[in-house]
Amino acid sequence: MVFLLIDIAVAAIAYSPVAGHPGVRLSLEGGALLFSTLNVTAMVMRRIRSPLMLIFGISVAAFALSSVAFMLGRPWNHMWWLAHAIFAGGFFLLSYGVVQAFHTTRSFATIYSQEEWMARLAAAMGRTESALQALKRTNQKLEHLAATDSLTGAANRRTFMQRIEAEITRAKREGEAFSLLALDLDNFKAVNDRYGHQVGDEVLQDFVRRCFDAIRPYDGVARVGGEEFMVLLPRSARELAFSIGERLRTAVESSVFESSAGRKVPMTVSIGVAEFGRDGYTIDTILRAADERLYKAKEEGRNRVVAA
Ligand code: GH3
Ligand code: MG
Ligand code: MG
Repeated sequence: MVFLLIDIAVAAIAYSPVAGHPGVRLSLEGGALLFSTLNVTAMVMRRIRSPLMLIFGISVAAFALSSVAFMLGRPWNHMWWLAHAIFAGGFFLLSYGVVQAFHTTRSFATIYSQEEWMARLAAAMGRTESALQALKRTNQKLEHLAATDSLTGAANRRTFMQRIEAEITRAKREGEAFSLLALDLDNFKAVNDRYGHQVGDEVLQDFVRRCFDAIRPYDGVARVGGEEFMVLLPRSARELAFSIGERLRTAVESSVFESSAGRKVPMTVSIGVAEFGRDGYTIDTILRAADERLYKAKEEGRNRVVAA
């Protein structure tokens, strides 16, 4: 509104009889020159160096130059037109700066320097990155919790079934055998009754540690019931599975489980062996075969491995 009024005032003066008087033109241009020069001086003195304000300063300097040209040149000659061109150049540069400022900040009130923006962006990206890392860690923890038995750290039943399914697919594709061991601790109820449930829990944890020690890195151990476990033995026919089972059985028999309270608990395990292919082609049939042999091992007096 103020600019419109100034424009009208300037137009009125330009078209009035006083327009021809050189003093009018000189005082108007002189005022503009003084204003622009003061502006640029203030910017230099206050050491304003941000890219946007630099553009603004250059534009105002262009205005000052054009005022000088307006004063020197006679109206309507080539100098006068040149001055207008410079003025227009400055004006467009300033407009560009203002539009840029608005696009980058979405407001005229907060104008950040480019460095400040980059720093803010880097900080925000850093925060996003660390949040992502934390989320990844939490996801891994959750995945681990969902896949394992919390007491012993062995795989849980669901995860183990998935592993067997995958192993069946692989065995069918590559024609390679794999075997399963079904394990059940002997007279475990008596351990609980004699030493207490807490000691029973520790024996279960220790038993799983011993299982991991006795098997190969790519074999899997799962807790499928209270004191019932299964071992998956990829690339193993029944004979090899039997000898791994025997190794496990002797490891349990020959070591005395010791509770944190110092109670020594003797322990034995019964094991049933089944091989994919020889004992069935589905998860149900091989699990049933392993279970039947485990039952047989119990019947025959416990602490033994039965493979047929
Ligand atoms: P068998 O030789 O015939 O297997 O005899 P058993 O006593 O081991 O068999 P049974 O299945 O009768 O008993 C299993 C016991 O295991 C019953 C239960 O008290 C105990 N048990 C099951 N889960 C847990 C557990 O998480 N912690 C403890 N401490 N004991 C458990
Ligand atoms: Mg038992
Ligand atoms: Mg049992």
